[in-house]
Amino acid sequence: MSLHCENISYTELAERFGTPLYVYSQAELDSAFARYQTAFAALAPLICYAVKANGNLSVIRRFAELGSGFDIVSGGELARVLAAGGRADKTIFSGVGKSAAEIEFALKSGIKCFNVESLPELDRINEIAGRLKTAAPVSLRINPDVDAQTHPYISTGLKANKFGIAMEDAERAYLHAASLPHLNIIGIDCHIGSQLIKLEPLVEACERLLPLIDKLAAHGIGLQHIDLGGGVGIVYQNEETPDLAAYAAAVQKLLGGRSLKLILEPGRSLVGNAGALLTRVEFVKQNGDKNFVVVDAAMNDLMRPALYQAYHHIENAEPSISAPFAADIVGPICETGDFLAKDRMISARAGDLLVVRSAGAYASSMAGNYNTRPRAAEVLINGSEAKIVRHRETLEEMLANERDCL
Ligand SMILES: *Cc1c(COP(=O)(O)O)cnc(C)c1O
Repeated sequence: MSLHCENISYTELAERFGTPLYVYSQAELDSAFARYQTAFAALAPLICYAVKANGNLSVIRRFAELGSGFDIVSGGELARVLAAGGRADKTIFSGVGKSAAEIEFALKSGIKCFNVESLPELDRINEIAGRLKTAAPVSLRINPDVDAQTHPYISTGLKANKFGIAMEDAERAYLHAASLPHLNIIGIDCHIGSQLIKLEPLVEACERLLPLIDKLAAHGIGLQHIDLGGGVGIVYQNEETPDLAAYAAAVQKLLGGRSLKLILEPGRSLVGNAGALLTRVEFVKQNGDKNFVVVDAAMNDLMRPALYQAYHHIENAEPSISAPFAADIVGPICETGDFLAKDRMISARAGDLLVVRSAGAYASSMAGNYNTRPRAAEVLINGSEAKIVRHRETLEEMLANERDCL
């Protein structure tokens, strides 16, 4: 039985659209969003999809249709959200280095809130809001100093990380914000890391923010919302991921009688397992007694293995077509770090199609042109229908911004 995405086989998709190819299932996007809504129903949170996980316009549009808000980290991502019908008043702007131009764009667009990460950023937002004769809605990103127990490159909630405002400086930062005339303090937020496979750090982060919220209330700073960020892990291999219902129950218990609206910023857990990357085997080669399956997708299409030693499950699209053997699955890029998998049992012959699983998040959104490789096409599947949601980049498009002017 060939592997399918909804009602279409990967083999057919590769023949129609070529490889490498990102394939997304709309039904999986919908059910991932519904899982959050169901688990957190009692708290009726604003779910703000983190666009950096997968910024394709059709993915954004689908989440907008489902009622999602958005978490953005650049003016570029705000432009995507607006272009795809997302609502600015449900959009949160995170990130440690917002430029003046980005802040102005966001203010003029009427975004819901800036998640502010430092005192100089507060001053910059205040100055720009004053110039535009408006008040900027702000939340402070507090670094709760909990160990997210994930890969160090995607751990953000420790003091040693560049993100957020340290807990011991938080009260002072809020008082400073309150002293600025063009800010409207509406919330508090944190985001401790990504691909978290334990629930405890997420709950602990929430718990650590509560005494601060009560202290601020005593200063007359009343907050409207608490934003717990994203970070819920997904199954790549055989991880036991946090149970959303248990997360919701723990948060509900902690928030108790406080009248705080809950905001969540999930990225990976909404799109990661809705996507696959299809890649064709170019060659099978041996160096000494080591086997290499050389495929047409590379680290420019899927950077996670090279960047974080991440695991992605890889299967032949026509299972049991040939006997599996141990191999590294590698791309054509001239870097030793260009691999999709190491020491993996795989059934693969030249010309076979491989399905790289869990490639909906941080795959196409991290893609680049290294080795002058055009970016791959993306298709969205709905039942028996396949729509191209990004066409394969052409060589002309890749060179279009450059000038040969010597
Ligand atoms: C990346 C990011 C998210 C999304 O994280 P996931 O692990 O993909 O859920 C949410 N909030 C902020 C501030 C982020 O930087």
